[in-house]
Amino acid sequence: MSAARHGGRAKCLQRLVRMDLPLPTTVALSFSCVHAIANGRMPDMDEIMRHFGEAPLLSVRPSSQDPDWGGPGAILNIGMNDSRHVRMCDELGEEAATSLYLRFIQSWAVHVARLDPDSFDIPDHPGPDALQAMLAAYEVEADEPFPQDPSVQLCEVLRSMARAWEGTTARLLRQAKGAPADAGLGLVVQQMALGVGQGECGSGVIQFVDSLTGLPQVTGRYLSQSQGRDALKAGAGAIYLTRDDRGPSFEELCPDAFARLLRMGDLCRERLREEMQIEFTLQEGKLHVLDAVRVQRSSRASVRIAVALAEDGMIPREEAVLRVEPQALSELLHRHVDPSAPRDLVVSGIAASPGAATGRIVFSANAAQASAARGEPCILVRRETTPEDIRGMHAAEGVLTIRGGITSHAAVIGRGLGLPCVVGASDLTIDRKKRQVIAPGGRRLSEGEIITLDGTSGEVLAGEPAMFEAVLDGAFRRLLDWADDFRDIGVRANADTPADAQTARNFQAQGIGLCRTEHMFFEEGRIGMMREMIFAKDEAARRTVLERLLPMQRADFARLFEIMQGQPVCIRLFDPPLHEFLPSDRAGLRDLADGLAVSLSDVEARVSALTEYNPMLGMRGVRLGITVPEIYEMQARAIFEATVQASRDGDPVVPEVMIPLVSAMREVELVKARIDAVAAQVRTQSGVEFDYRLGVMVETPRAALRAADIAQHAAFLSFGTNDLTQMTYGLSRDDAGRFMSIYVKNGVYEEDPFHSLDLEGVGELLKIGAERGRAGRPDVTLSICGEHGGSRSAIEFCRKQGFDYVSCSPFRVPVARLSAAQLALRERLDIDEKVTVGRFF
Ligand code: PEP
Ligand code: MG
Repeated sequence: MSAARHGGRAKCLQRLVRMDLPLPTTVALSFSCVHAIANGRMPDMDEIMRHFGEAPLLSVRPSSQDPDWGGPGAILNIGMNDSRHVRMCDELGEEAATSLYLRFIQSWAVHVARLDPDSFDIPDHPGPDALQAMLAAYEVEADEPFPQDPSVQLCEVLRSMARAWEGTTARLLRQAKGAPADAGLGLVVQQMALGVGQGECGSGVIQFVDSLTGLPQVTGRYLSQSQGRDALKAGAGAIYLTRDDRGPSFEELCPDAFARLLRMGDLCRERLREEMQIEFTLQEGKLHVLDAVRVQRSSRASVRIAVALAEDGMIPREEAVLRVEPQALSELLHRHVDPSAPRDLVVSGIAASPGAATGRIVFSANAAQASAARGEPCILVRRETTPEDIRGMHAAEGVLTIRGGITSHAAVIGRGLGLPCVVGASDLTIDRKKRQVIAPGGRRLSEGEIITLDGTSGEVLAGEPAMFEAVLDGAFRRLLDWADDFRDIGVRANADTPADAQTARNFQAQGIGLCRTEHMFFEEGRIGMMREMIFAKDEAARRTVLERLLPMQRADFARLFEIMQGQPVCIRLFDPPLHEFLPSDRAGLRDLADGLAVSLSDVEARVSALTEYNPMLGMRGVRLGITVPEIYEMQARAIFEATVQASRDGDPVVPEVMIPLVSAMREVELVKARIDAVAAQVRTQSGVEFDYRLGVMVETPRAALRAADIAQHAAFLSFGTNDLTQMTYGLSRDDAGRFMSIYVKNGVYEEDPFHSLDLEGVGELLKIGAERGRAGRPDVTLSICGEHGGSRSAIEFCRKQGFDYVSCSPFRVPVARLSAAQLALRERLDIDEKVTVGRFF
């Protein structure tokens, strides 16, 4: 018997039988048998019935390949009929016998005969008349008497369950959960072990770990027919609960059965290599095990259980690493909304940075800072964020924008800071005058009202639902340490600030793969200098301002080198268009004119001179580096002086300097010549020798196509898949959110390509770029540093192409480490991507 032919439940029951657990007689029907039943070909019913002896009472349960794919509900007490009822009244008493018969008629009527459920309600205290009334109701509704032959009953139950599985709705539902179109269903027919009768009788479930924490703890429930109340044992800490908090626990009531169940739990761990929940009955003191299923578990518990099983030698470490969903780690890294808490949904947007945050609505960066200063958590709500909002984002608990997609400014910064973020909530509008947001249906929320962002689902909720805190416990760290032993591709972090770098270090990133230096210029006291530089009359004046920025940049880099302790740090030279540093509204322009002591018209003239129709394809990146070379020279000097300083104080540093937006080899030649010259000057002035590596960011299609030339001058090529996606599709990464959902809904794109790397198109350019880059320089280092870097599909692609590392937001580093390890292990152990390890037996 195998899970692939009979389903997970049947396979598990077979193993329980082999472990000598006291299971009632059980017959498993295979997928092919059930498929034949659905098509009208019944198996030999006499042969099935023969296993169960005279007048049996039976149950039928579904057994699909993966329990998460669902299936029809179990049907119990098959075999109940008038004569059986009479006999059971003698044996068990009328109340128990009638209750069983009523429940069977009800589930038959609803699930097998598909009659209206309203006609088959069971009264709270059913008397003898209730049974007659229910049988009469059945006869009226079904136009025939209730079937009495157990064999016919079983036959019809099997048929209805087989057909339910093959119905269109059920098929679509399970396909949505990842089941293949032809997923099969097995059925398990089992003798009922009723848990009613003389002596101690009852039924219950028991498990041996806590579903929330994964820590050892006996929990469950037991319904004692004899005692007439629930007895629940909660914890080995000898806390006994009953329905009225008095009376004995199950352990006290049935110490032998309890001790046996504990031994069964140990046996399950050892033989099934899993934490199981056991369903059991006691019939006149005799224990029967009806079923055992994998314990339901939170993300935190899934990590804890996998690690504990490996540490106890039940499973190898490889399997523990494969058993945990990488997404589960992501949940652990962030606070998240309690899944069982009620949700008052205001609007949905794009889930851009995971985790949940609650705070009062504010509409500006200044208001966010003021709110933080008052100690009031806030959510910054903006149409879209600009670099000027960074301080406000730092002050806020979360960010909500109306425009933008997964690579928009708010999304990138949010992920970097580990700040929950929902973007592109285009159904919201902001009423500036009234300081309110207006949700679909006209619902208004005012500044100061409390909302909660769920950056994992993209939902915006009113109020403050219950939350679960982030948990980075020992089990989490151990699992990732094991993952690193199996991983064969590097994982670095995109980190711009010391705080990001520290997070990267804490999550054991193997260096910084992308430091976007422009973010450093938006800090307090620096943006003014940037503006002065932009307004400088000539090169000499620009150099004077840059001289004042130099020590600040040097300190930035020195701090990053210090935190990363000799790990590689890849610093990208200035990338954005200069206009991003200028205010966009009139009040801001007036302030700027005041600050620079120039006329408003001069300011406006300069702003208009910098205006471009298409700034993301304009004067930015290396184009700025070539036309205004003193900016890159200042940055190179800051990097090298920080290198000298950091190498004196700690581990030697070999900085990596990366040029953005390259499209031609000559650009690299020109910039390299200047940077080499600065390096030579710093060596001479400091008297300290150091190396550095110059690399190119491949983010224009032409750079990928010309990678062989470009690699002549570049020690490394790092693919910036955000811009590369933008330019390959000709899609604006800032505006595509407006129509992306319609495109995805219509199947134009399978997924938002800014979210999920387009392996066919952008991937082709990556492949070409990598091949040609290697042709130009065989030892060139290859990596990816766009937002896709942390996703499983991008990591899989990069591994296949032999890339050296991926670089992603610091908070995605643990997920990337686990995904990379799983991909390497699956390849080594030859486990198909579709097979979920540890979900069934
Ligand atoms: C990219 O374009 O992929 C990239 C990493 O750079 P940025 O997002 O800063 O443009
Ligand atoms: Mg880019």
